[in-house]
Amino acid sequence: MTTTAFIGLGAMGYPMAAHLSRHAAEHGGAALVWNRTASKAHKHAAEHGSRVASLSELAQADVILSCLPTSASVDEMIGRLEGQLRPGTLWIDCTSGHPDAARTQRTRLAAHGVRFLDAPVSGGTSGAQQGTLTVMLGGPADEVEEARAALPFAAKVVHVGNTGAGFAVKAINNVLLAVNLWAAGEGLAALAGLGVNVSAALDVINTSSGRSNATENLIPQRVVTRQFPVTFTLGLLAKDIGIALDVVHAAKGSAPVLAQTGALYDAAARNVGTDVDHTAALQFVERMNAREIR
Ligand code: NDP
Repeated sequence: MTTTAFIGLGAMGYPMAAHLSRHAAEHGGAALVWNRTASKAHKHAAEHGSRVASLSELAQADVILSCLPTSASVDEMIGRLEGQLRPGTLWIDCTSGHPDAARTQRTRLAAHGVRFLDAPVSGGTSGAQQGTLTVMLGGPADEVEEARAALPFAAKVVHVGNTGAGFAVKAINNVLLAVNLWAAGEGLAALAGLGVNVSAALDVINTSSGRSNATENLIPQRVVTRQFPVTFTLGLLAKDIGIALDVVHAAKGSAPVLAQTGALYDAAARNVGTDVDHTAALQFVERMNAREIR
């Protein structure tokens, strides 16, 4: 019987861990949960049949999954468990973390006989609820194969390279999201200034070559409606852009558009805050243009 433990029941982790509980109930096994704010773990257990674990129980799991804000918070978690970890455990980190941290964490955990894979996810909170996330895995091929069975919240699992490659791919994906969102915001603000109906413009763009997830989903559902529901914060996106720029630097790459995107999102976060939804960055574009995108 496999015991799987999930650490970090946030916007992503809570629904991801629900799939673990369901999978354990259907296939035999135990799904343990742990959260820094313990009340969320108790709510998860009541709603989804998971079991709230102590730190020492967590440390004994066959598989540990984590989904925390940053690699620094994963480091803290490793520190909490370090003295109690069991050789043979596979630690799969679904945080959107830093490639350098993945390599350090793998080495640190290897000293205890624990294997570490970077396994960030895409698909948002709706993908986490539906169990349709994409997981990008970095690490040795045999460990990646072992990990596949422990990802019941995923519709697609891709081995993208060695340790750190998963975090690198995730960061570049998210900086592309940031570029598309911002550029669409600038273009639509200009059209609004000319008196063009933004929804009509989106209708055209979304059957044309300028379309993206930002124009198809984010802007119609979150910006035009003025709802900006918080599912993925601007602070987390700004963190991902910073990681992407470190990836460019490590590759000795030249990426002026991505660098500019970092500066723009930093300015947006200073102006509209970090706890708002990432699409609220377009409120800063709106201020720059003195008009709303709707
Ligand atoms: P949330 O802020 O909603 O949740 C963060 C979780 O981490 C909470 O359970 C929080 O516990 C816990 N936590 C925070 N700091 C620590 C710490 N120092 N030690 C232990 N636990 C800690 O974040 P999300 O779920 O939105 O994001 C998690 C990761 O997934 C991030 O790396 C993000 O970039 C990535 N991601 C997010 C997506 C989204 O749509 N939201 C999509 C894809 C990836 P507590 O309850 O105590 O605060």
